[in-house]
Formats: sequence, C-alpha cells, structure tokens
Amino acid sequence: MIKIFDTTLRDGEQSPGCSMNLNEKLQMAKQLERLGVDIIEAGFPAASPGDFESVKAIANLLKKPVITGLARCTKNDIDKDFAAIKDANHKRIHVFIATSDIHLEYKLKKTRAEVLESVKKYVSYAKSLVDDIEFSAEDASRTDLDFLCQVVEVAIEAGATTINLPDTVGYAVPTEYAHMIKTVKDRVVGEQDIVLSVHCHNDLGLAVANSLAAVEAGATQIECTINGIGERAGNAALEEVVMALKTRNDYYGVDTNINTKEIMPASNLLEQITATKVSPTKPIVGKNVFAHESGIHQHGVLQNKSTYEIMDPAMIGIVDQENIVLGKHSGKHALRSKIEDLGFEIEDEELEEVFVKFKNIADNKKNIYDSDIRALMLGQLNQVSGHYQLVDYSSFTSDGKESKTIIKLSNGTETIERVGSGAGPIDAAFDCMKNILEDQFILEDFRINSVTAGQDALGETTLSLKHNDHQYNGRGLSNDIIKSGILAYINAINKQVEA
Ligand SMILES: [Zn+2]
Repeated sequence: MIKIFDTTLRDGEQSPGCSMNLNEKLQMAKQLERLGVDIIEAGFPAASPGDFESVKAIANLLKKPVITGLARCTKNDIDKDFAAIKDANHKRIHVFIATSDIHLEYKLKKTRAEVLESVKKYVSYAKSLVDDIEFSAEDASRTDLDFLCQVVEVAIEAGATTINLPDTVGYAVPTEYAHMIKTVKDRVVGEQDIVLSVHCHNDLGLAVANSLAAVEAGATQIECTINGIGERAGNAALEEVVMALKTRNDYYGVDTNINTKEIMPASNLLEQITATKVSPTKPIVGKNVFAHESGIHQHGVLQNKSTYEIMDPAMIGIVDQENIVLGKHSGKHALRSKIEDLGFEIEDEELEEVFVKFKNIADNKKNIYDSDIRALMLGQLNQVSGHYQLVDYSSFTSDGKESKTIIKLSNGTETIERVGSGAGPIDAAFDCMKNILEDQFILEDFRINSVTAGQDALGETTLSLKHNDHQYNGRGLSNDIIKSGILAYINAINKQVEA
C-alpha cells in the first residue's frame, strides 16, 4: 500500500495567486478527506497567525486522515506546530532541515556536524510531544549520499517514523533518484518499520516519473498536490501519481487508499477556489483528456473504448450528462439538500443569503445544474467580507463609440462612485476600478467561461491582479458577464486587503 500525503494546502498554497482563505481551506480539506488521502499537510503553523489558525481548524474538523504541519528545526516552530495539531484524531509533526552543501553554506551557514546535532535535538524534541514524526532532508537529491545516510540514521535514532527525501529543486532524474532511495533503504533503513517518502518538484517535468521510480526502489509514501500546484513548476500531481499506479497496477503491483471518483471533483474545486484553470491537455483532469477529435480515433472509440482510452472517465468521477437539478420554483429545502449532496455544509443564516442569490439566477435561467450550485457555493466561500462591495453599476456601449461604465462601490464606511471608459464595457469597467483604486493594481490575466452550456449559462470570470509583486486571483459569477467581471476584480482586491 502506498500512502498518499497531500500538500495542496501547504506547498501548493505557496504558488503565486493560490493563497486561500480559511473557509476555502476547510472546503478543500473536506474534499481531500472524501478523496481518501492518508495524510494532509495543512500548513506551516509558524509562518503566520493565519496559517496557524487554519491548521488548527483542519486538525479539529477532520477525523480520518493524519493531519500534519511543517516545522523547521527550532523549538518555536515545533511548539507552534504541536499547538495547532494537538487535538487532531491522528497527528504528525513534520520537521525539516536542509542537508545539501549548497544549502548548508549559503542558507543555513552550518557545518555538517551542526546539522546532525540539530536533527538529533529537534527530532527528539518533536518526539517528546507526538509519536508520529516525519523528518525531511531538504534538497536530499543534491546532498552527498554518505552524509544523507548519516542524517537519516540520526533522525531514525531520534524517533522519526517517516523519512522524506525531497527533490526540492526538481533537479533529479528517475534512475538517479531511485538509486538514492535504494541506497538509503539498503544502508540505513533495512528491516526497520520506517516509511520512506518522496516529494518531487516538476522543474524538468519529471516530478511524477521520479516519484514512481522511487516507489520501485522502495518508497511507500508519495507527497503530492491536486492539479500539481506548487512553487515554480509545481509538485508531483496527485491525480497523475494515483492513476499511474492504478492503471498500471499490472506493473507496479501496489494500491492506494484513494477513491478515484473524487479526483475530478477535487480538481474542479481547487480550480474554482484558486481561480486557476488547468491546461486542457493536463493529464487525467484536463478538458481534452477524454475528447476524441480525430475521425480515426472516434471510429475506434465507438467500436470499443479501449482502442484509444486507457482509463474509464467514470473512474475519475467525470459525469457525462448533468442532471437538471433545480428550477425557479424550487424551495429552500430542496436547495439545502442539493448543497449538502454536493458536499458543502451550510448554516441557516448562510442558506438565506445563498437562497436569495439562487432566486436571482433562477429568474434568468431556466435550468439550474449541479455545477451552477457548486459555483454559487464557491462564490459564497470566496466572498471576502468587510471590504469592497459592489453597490451598483451601469454600462453604456454602442458600436464605434467608446464604452462607459459607472461603478458604485462601498468600502464599509463610504460609497465611492467613478466612471471609466474603454474599448468595450469590460475594459471600461476595469478602467473605472483602476480610477477607484488609484492605479494600484495591474491586470495580468482575464478569462470568461460559462459554467454550463446554453445561452443563459452563468458567466464565470477569473482574473489575476498584480500589486507590489504579489499576485491576487479573483473570481466572479453572474448571468451578466460585465457584472461577473466587476465581481472578480473586487474579489481579487479584497484578497489583497485581507492579506
Ligand atoms: Zn516542496
């Protein structure tokens, strides 16, 4: 059995524009539990009070998976980590230190002997608090192998039960990485009951290949993220690792605890929360993965699916046709039960708010589908209250003339009204937002998608704004695309205010 360690909420959240608020993290964590991941790395508690609170909330909420937080080799980090996870049903402290010479010299400014001393001291300290201890040798793949073996030996003696050997900078290639795992297993771990773990980055596009090579060499835990999000080129993608092990079970001969039908819902949820779409050709979850355009392929698939399909889309949770779920006359009760079916929890007060929005949509849209309700609920989670709110807007546009948009915005204490102009109503709306915010933000990316098919489909806008070198993604939803654009813009600036 291979353990799946998900770090979407820690390593993944560190990717530009992917920061999530507490509500969003809790929804994502619940979906990871449904997906059946064995371990959730919920954050880095010493990094900020917000991180601490979200790790604590996740540790208190989830019952099945092991909850862990990341800690450097310091007493403060380990104490904060323990305080955040202590009430979890299953808890783990994850301690790390860099071990490669380049990190020792330039980052830690420590000798090898000092690193060994730290490992011994802080792994033992963590062990005095919690039994389940993971130790990571950061930049393991660029560490001298003899020294790496020494470090691992000290960590195991001090009480580590999982040893993680990351390819932190995405530099390793599969044969070499497998060799490192096998050497540590043969020389140090032997027959001891220790989990060998891998954590790979995708800078050379090898994160999944390296993880799988490590499994063949004896690793039994893979660290990964949904949609492969993460710093730079990202982490090994959970869905790719899991489906490779499942589809090629004939070759690897190992299983995971993942309920693969929850892969697509997890991927969609993360896309919507982070307002970041995966590429259409992204393995497993991209929108083209099960589409067959070429005539020859289509013919083959119609005769027998396995001619060109190695996986059954239903296995990943892709549903062919969406059910019409609700309409104009559906009541609050029906809405609540649908929301709960989709895996969301909702308080009575919140249901009132969502019901009003639902009625607004139902007035303009005949059929309401699962994805509409999901989008509506995510919009609710996305909402960052207490800052800018849209009060009203009007837009004037005609062919050959400059468009004008007037936006009225409340910032909690006063209402601001400005006018903007541009080549079309959206351009004018964004110009207006720039005027209100005194040019603080630069628009970097902007997309409109329809949530479902049909002329009356909800328009979902995702955009990305840059402010002082930070990226903020926003998402807006409405039957009216101008409004969904303005809402997305407001969502992104509210994230900046909240950050
Ligand atoms: Zn990483």
